[in-house]
Amino acid sequence: MLLYEPQYCIASVVATLILILMYFMKRNYSTKHNKIFLIMLVDNLLASAINILTFYVITFPERHSVLFNTAVNIIYLILYNFMGVLFLLYVDSLTKIKKARLFVTIMSGFIIVYDVLLLLTTYKTHLIIYFDENLVYRHGPLMMSLYVTAFVAVVCTQILFFLQRRKFNSYQVFAVSGFIIGVFASIIFQMIFPRYVISNFTCAMTLFFIYTAFENQAYYLFNDTLCYNQRAFHKTIARMAKRRKPYVIIAVKYESKEESVSHYGRSGMGLLSMKVAERLCAEFRRKSYNVYNNLFVIVSTHDSLDSNMKERINKCFNKPFEVVFHDEILRYSLVPKTTVISVSKLFPFGYELVEFLRSADAFSRSYTSDDALGDALVPIKRERSLVRRLERALDQKEFKVYYQPILNVYEGKYTCAEALVRLYDEEEGFINPEEFIRVAERNGLIDEIGTFVFEEVCRFIRDSRVEDLGVHYIEINLSPKQTNKEELVLMLKGIMDKYNISPSFLNLEITETAEIGADEMKGLGELMTNLKEQGLTFSLDDFGSGFAAIDYLIQLPVEIVKIDKMILWNAMEDPSSMAVLRNTMSMISEVGKKVLVEGVETKEMADILVANGCDYMQGYLYSRPLPEDEYIVFLNENKDKIVR
Ligand code: C2E
Ligand code: CA
Ligand code: CA
Repeated sequence: MLLYEPQYCIASVVATLILILMYFMKRNYSTKHNKIFLIMLVDNLLASAINILTFYVITFPERHSVLFNTAVNIIYLILYNFMGVLFLLYVDSLTKIKKARLFVTIMSGFIIVYDVLLLLTTYKTHLIIYFDENLVYRHGPLMMSLYVTAFVAVVCTQILFFLQRRKFNSYQVFAVSGFIIGVFASIIFQMIFPRYVISNFTCAMTLFFIYTAFENQAYYLFNDTLCYNQRAFHKTIARMAKRRKPYVIIAVKYESKEESVSHYGRSGMGLLSMKVAERLCAEFRRKSYNVYNNLFVIVSTHDSLDSNMKERINKCFNKPFEVVFHDEILRYSLVPKTTVISVSKLFPFGYELVEFLRSADAFSRSYTSDDALGDALVPIKRERSLVRRLERALDQKEFKVYYQPILNVYEGKYTCAEALVRLYDEEEGFINPEEFIRVAERNGLIDEIGTFVFEEVCRFIRDSRVEDLGVHYIEINLSPKQTNKEELVLMLKGIMDKYNISPSFLNLEITETAEIGADEMKGLGELMTNLKEQGLTFSLDDFGSGFAAIDYLIQLPVEIVKIDKMILWNAMEDPSSMAVLRNTMSMISEVGKKVLVEGVETKEMADILVANGCDYMQGYLYSRPLPEDEYIVFLNENKDKIVR
């Protein structure tokens, strides 16, 4: 008759085996915590199985040698105590606290060495466990210290997790706390009912919660398919870079022969990419990644590409794809386009590769070598570093607003100015606003910059009282990316109220964009009408530099039209361009708007413009954009002059 009841250990073996099975069946993208979790499962499986053997040798010690009996118990205790350390390493790989890395390594190393040394020598020293002269299993004087090391590991784990708890949802917090509560509860239970050894089973149960809380494979998968997502791609690329392992990627993007695909909008496109993902994944298993809407990548760790790779890709697109959209079955024949990139010397980041692949450049050639990739990444790296610079500048309020005076030709006075944003960098000097505004627009930073400029201008108007110096209003640039947001009205109104600025003091410059449709134009018109009712006025900027200029002129409620400086500069070069300038100016006047010409650099230009009925002039002839204090000096100097 056994002294202990083994059924809980048997249940633990079965439960852990089921978990291992689930792990391998559902396993996909492998991460560090994923691997540690597997070790925990194996550890618990072995510990549970060997625990049954310990019951046997403790109950029937005479059947085997003392060495064997002791060895069985030692192995069990090593496995059981490892669990605490493994859990510490597991939580460390989840929390990823860099500063804690060294501490965790030293702590777990110490615990392992301490436990293993004491356990391996206990046969001689009897410090942890031993079998006495009557072959009774006994605990030695240092047995308690094993519990202490386990306890220390658990406390460290808890602290790490606590520090990063905001990163996790409540179920994950429950799972981690459950592990610790489970371990302690089973120890207490054990003290009361020593026959029922439930510790391994409790461990299996808590591992189940950990599994469901953290080993969520969908995190690295693209929309319910088995194809990896962009997150997984970034990780894979980072891994190869770390190991400096050469690889080749073949990128696939598809186009539809049918026009209709775009009618179904984003969700329709998403469904279609899922179908493509399924086929690519079936063909390339764990190598295919969806990295952007209709852009897929297959990563091959061989340094050259199998020659039949492209054929295999084409095969995936042979048959049309069917998607069910709003109860309709739609069929699409897709045409794949592929390009190959090989990486062996310079290891880019995943996002850099994705950015490159999204650029028109990538698919215009069939192969990009390491060197060519290096060149292509220069602007991408530049953009990324600029984004970081802009974020820092926003954070530390480094942007400055300069004011370029504008001459009112009729009055001969500088009755207004254009606010222009500036960013000074210690290494680069002034960063060209033309460049950083585009970057800000592409990377979702333009709203914040726009708000900053607007607020700065309002503050300046309030503090400097420029109206006493003859200024009627300040022009502020609005990016087309800002004008398609409803919050804009609230932002503008909020700031004007805060600084108590009358809207008539501000004039907003809007620019045309190529990609504006009829609906958006209507939306923009409504937004402007709304703002106009509140007293704001508008200028149309860069007139003549784009394509949609005339539509803008006719449909939008603007007061002033700013003719682009290139039109003026070209006019100075040849007579037909001069005719264009003249006619543009008279056309604007005829539809009842004021004409402003920018880029006026010479007296000759100014004379021609005045002779042709120009209302406002802006350019280096009068002044460059000036910082606040210099602008005030400029206004004071010109207060009593009349410029002709
Ligand atoms: P823009 O709105 O067309 O601004 C006029 C640009 O022409 C300014 O360049 C100004 O310094 C320059 N300029 C004015 N007169 C002359 C001249 O006589 N000769 C020459 N060569 N240049 C002249 P800047 O300040 O470099 O700004 C470039 C562009 O950046 C602006 O073009 C505008 O599109 C954008 N930008 C500047 N500040 C802001 C802002 O606060 N918000 C937004 N959304 N865009 C801004
Ligand atoms: Ca402007
Ligand atoms: Ca302009």
